[in-house]
Order: sequence, then C-alpha cells, then structure tokens
Amino acid sequence: MKILVTGGAGYIGSHTIVELIKAGHSVIITDNLCNSHKNAVARVEQITGTSVPLYAADIRDSAALSRVLDEHPADACIHFAGLKSVGESNSHPCEYYDNNISGTLNLISVLRAHNVKNIIFSSSATVYGIPEKSPVTEDCPKGICTNPYGWTKWMAEQILTDLHNADPSWNIVLLRYFNPIGAHPSGLIGENPNGIPNNLMPYITQVAVGKRECLHIFGNDYDTPDGTGVRDYIHVVDLARGHVKALEAIKRNCGVALYNLGTGKGCSVLELVKTFEAVNHVHIPYVIEPRRAGDVAVCYSDPGKAERELGWKAEYGIEEMCRDSWNWQKNNPQGY
Ligand code: NAD
Ligand code: UDP
Repeated sequence: MKILVTGGAGYIGSHTIVELIKAGHSVIITDNLCNSHKNAVARVEQITGTSVPLYAADIRDSAALSRVLDEHPADACIHFAGLKSVGESNSHPCEYYDNNISGTLNLISVLRAHNVKNIIFSSSATVYGIPEKSPVTEDCPKGICTNPYGWTKWMAEQILTDLHNADPSWNIVLLRYFNPIGAHPSGLIGENPNGIPNNLMPYITQVAVGKRECLHIFGNDYDTPDGTGVRDYIHVVDLARGHVKALEAIKRNCGVALYNLGTGKGCSVLELVKTFEAVNHVHIPYVIEPRRAGDVAVCYSDPGKAERELGWKAEYGIEEMCRDSWNWQKNNPQGY
C-alpha cells in the first residue's frame, strides 16, 4: 500500500517507516519538523536503501496537504503528527488543542477530499486516566485524563469513532501505546528529545552519556514491590511492527478497531535502571524525589486483543530495550 505518514520524521514514525518499507509498502512523509530533524529521514533511507519523500507540511495547512496527496495518491494514512509533552500541555493547552485536535480535523477533511478513508491513529494508554486495575484491557472505560495532552488523545479517538459512525466506509485503527523506548538496532535512529527529557529512558541515557548529572526518581513509596512506579515499556521496533499489522486489519475493512500495544509486563523504575546498568556496564547515579503530580503507581497492558486479532506480539524484552537505547545515545550523543 501507499501510506501517508504524518509526523514521520519523529521517534515512532521513523521506526515505523523502516518496518513499512521492509513489509513492501511505500511511504510519503508530512512533518513540520517542530520536534524532529530531517536527518532522521536520511537515516531511514540509509537503513532501508529506499528514498522517502519528506514534505515539510503542517497538518493544519490544507493547501500543503492537498498538494502532497495530489502528487502522491495514498491508500491509507498513519497519523503520528502531534505535540506530546505532558508538562508543556499544562502550560500551553491551547497550542496542544490546536495542533492535535484542529490538526487532526484538518487532516481528516483533506483525506476525505482525496477519498483516503483508512487511518491509523497514535493514541496512548493515557486515555485510560487512572486505570482501576492492571493489566488494562481495551474494554476498560476511558477515564478522566490528568492533562490537556491526554484529553487531545481522548478527543481525537472520539472524533475518529464518530467519523466512522457517520460514514462506515472509513476504517479506523486506534492504537493505544504504552511506554515506547529503545531504538533501531543499527543505532542510526532513536529518540531525540529537545531540552530536558520528560520521560524516563531518555533521561537515563543522557545521564549515562554525561549530559545530566543524575536521574531523579519520582517516588519510592508506591504500593509496588520496590516502591517505584511500574510501567509497560515496549521496544519501539515492536511498536512499529504493530502498525504494519494494523494495515492488514484495514485491508480487511475493520471498521473502528482499538488495540493496546504493550508487552503486558510491568517494570519498575528501579528495575529499568538496574537492567540498563547491567546490560550496558554503565553506572546511573540517582536521587529519590517526591512523587510526580499525576503519576499512577502501576500501569501495564493486556495486549491479548492485538495478538488474537492482528497476530501481533511484542518480541523484545527490557534487556534489548536498554541495549538499543544506549547504542543509539552513545553513537549520537548530540542527537541527529
Ligand atoms: P515525536 O515528537 O518524535 O514525533 C511527532 C512528529 O510530529 C514530530 O516529528 C513533529 O515534528 C511532528 N509534528 C508535530 N506537530 C505537527 C504538525 N502540526 N504538522 C506536522 N507535523 C507535526 O513523537 P513520537 O514519540 O514519535 O510520537 C508520535 C505519536 O505517538 C504522537 O502523536 C504521540 O502523541 C503519540 N504517542 C507517543 C508516546 C511516546 O511515549 N513517545 C506514547 C503514546 C502516544
Ligand atoms: N520517572 C522518573 N524520573 C524521570 C522520569 C520518569 O522517576 O525523570 C518515572 C515516572 O514517575 C514513572 C516512570 O518513570 O513512574 C515512567 O515515566 P515516563 O514519563 O517515562 O512515562 P509515563 O509517565 O507517561 O508513564
């Protein structure tokens, strides 16, 4: 299939494009590069030996998007483009609603005008709010989000579902990611956050490479085996392959389909730190800080539905995630 990938120069998008090309699909990217670098696309081309057209188009720019689709008629869209920092969404909510919601609405209208009615959307476990229990299954109700970023995912899911209800010829796959970490094993592409990382793994790798002095662990008094927060970390290459499988669902006219993409295994902050140290033979100094506002103690997925319906299952474990995150960071200490 020919796939329009919005946000394809970003962390998950770039890894997904590698897997799409490996699976025989062709790809066009639109990305305004607000949180990424065009070198990521050059690296994808290096890994795959395939040229990938990149248009520096904003998803809120109808004319620019239309030109891209006029030139490259697509069969489906994988929609990664969006702002994703929880903290920034608290301080700049309108920018988040504009980018993630107005952007998605605009994208939908341009896709419809080009008769592209297949879309895979990057959602997040954050839509569950504070989950009542883990493992979280897809039939757990969507919850009360704790920040505007989460609400944009919640609302975009609703908009896409309503779109299908009004016009069943749309196929929509909502993928709720748990905690993507890791990098392509080549070490050529990986996560490249701007400024101080909000997420745990990029913070750890920046401590390891000497960019930050020590890790701050947010709370060691949770009701978990070692007191630190438990999450479902998933290798970004596994996550990327989930999108390739989701395209198969679209080919089968899936209507609206919703899947958790996680490993189903919980891992604590301290376990991740210890594994990173053991696998990579580096020391990660840390200090314990108070809990971070809005954090839950435990959140991990039940990924069984994706396995049953898509034939997708995460293959990599925490060791490989730690190895590949470090391989990327140490080979690219300044990012792209
Ligand atoms: P990323 O920031 O690396 O990638 C997003 C890309 O979208 C960037 O390249 C950015 O430049 C681009 N972009 C942003 N706004 C745009 C706009 N208006 N027009 C065109 N391009 C625009 O983030 P990522 O980690 O690769 O995340 C991809 C998607 O997955 C996002 O929607 C994110 O919310 C979602 N997600 C990420 C995580 C995670 O932990 N990384 C977890 C759950 C969901
Ligand atoms: N965390 C931490 N220090 C950091 C960043 C995160 O201790 O610098 C913890 C956080 O409290 C949570 C886990 O690591 O328990 C994962 O946090 P992250 O921000 O990566 O993902 P999310 O909160 O979205 O699950």
